[in-house]
Amino acid sequence: MRIARRLNLVQESSTLKMNALALELRSQGKDIINLTAGEPDFFVPERVKDAVRQALLENKSKYTLAVGNLDLRQAVANKTNLQQSRIVDRLQPWRAEEIVISNGGKQALFNSILAMIDPGDEVMIPSPYWVSSPEMVKLAEGQPRILKTTPSTHFKLTVDLLSQGFRDYPKARMLILNSPNNPTGSVYSEVELRALGDVIVTQAPGDFLVVSDEIYDRIVFPQGKANSPFCSFLQAVPAWRNQTITINGLSKSAAMTGWRVGWSVASGEITAAISKIQGQSASGINSLAQAAAVTALSLPEDYFASQIASYQERAKLSERILSQVPGLVVNHPEGAFYHFLNMQRFCGVGETATPLCSRILQEAGVALVPGQGFGEENFLRLSFSVPKDSLAEGCERLVHYLKKLDGSLAETPSGTQS
Ligand code: PLP
Repeated sequence: MRIARRLNLVQESSTLKMNALALELRSQGKDIINLTAGEPDFFVPERVKDAVRQALLENKSKYTLAVGNLDLRQAVANKTNLQQSRIVDRLQPWRAEEIVISNGGKQALFNSILAMIDPGDEVMIPSPYWVSSPEMVKLAEGQPRILKTTPSTHFKLTVDLLSQGFRDYPKARMLILNSPNNPTGSVYSEVELRALGDVIVTQAPGDFLVVSDEIYDRIVFPQGKANSPFCSFLQAVPAWRNQTITINGLSKSAAMTGWRVGWSVASGEITAAISKIQGQSASGINSLAQAAAVTALSLPEDYFASQIASYQERAKLSERILSQVPGLVVNHPEGAFYHFLNMQRFCGVGETATPLCSRILQEAGVALVPGQGFGEENFLRLSFSVPKDSLAEGCERLVHYLKKLDGSLAETPSGTQS
């Protein structure tokens, strides 16, 4: 059977693949600690469950508008206006008509790329990136252009890198930003976003678009010396209102991954294009999930605060345990729920961290995700969105394995790469 050629370019999601492997080993009776999860381990708040029960009693089970119910779009507009108050003060506040509700942030991002990217268009994506971003560009037959960031800037896109990007790809059509970032946990400050905005405003071609993936907006750790509060791209760069698509959803903030509620916020012209795709592919998302989402968008601040405190505690726990491995650099995430670990020192000669990831799974019983899918082949991603006991056990196993490995690598002269 001939499969469409565009699929030859697209990779399988490495996150889903490792998760499936971990589950398979578990089903064979192996004791596996699964630290691959890209989802909160919290349950959906009771009041959200109540909203669904009520919607069911009221028979809200028919097709909805393809773009989503008006009350939900209005709630999204209100949330976005709060986070982008400079848009409200200086320009046009967001209206329900500028929002499309979709099946998760994933579909919102895919719709946006499909709506705006023509075959051959170049899309700049800083690496490390979320596994699906470049693959979606390829599905739209665009050309992902990777802007490689480094640990020295906490894996954030800098003014120099972006300017270089515009020089290297003068016809680039789009930049995909993701803050807080999966997999690095980095969060761009307002100052950093404003500096990037200055580069965009002065160097970008006329119809250049920013797609700002803000799905982890509610998982940002309290400000310390190094931490920044969450800042939406358009709060920092309001001038780019009509050339930015903001992507968000409830998967991470309200622990509703399985409910599939996401959205895009963009000018009427862009929203009309996105709506056309939504209307001819998925139609409106599940009607009960939409009712739940309206309630989830009114959750009180203390709901988010308690989750953040719990994530932060677990980030500290895993950092403390992992710091026992000499030479293992553990990042200090400012948001989301991942550690991104540089494994170069533990890889075999000429090897990436992908085979190491398989060995860790088989020999130590800990499932992690190879960095390759995120654009950093010497790294592994560890999710600390698991109960503390499992997290501690998984990290202890990893420490034990890596210390032993380090000892054996030190004994074979050609073993290590420092
Ligand atoms: N963007 C990023 C950076 C993500 O990590 C994810 C999910 O892992 C998504 C978007 C998509 O989220 P959703 O589950 O709402 O489709």
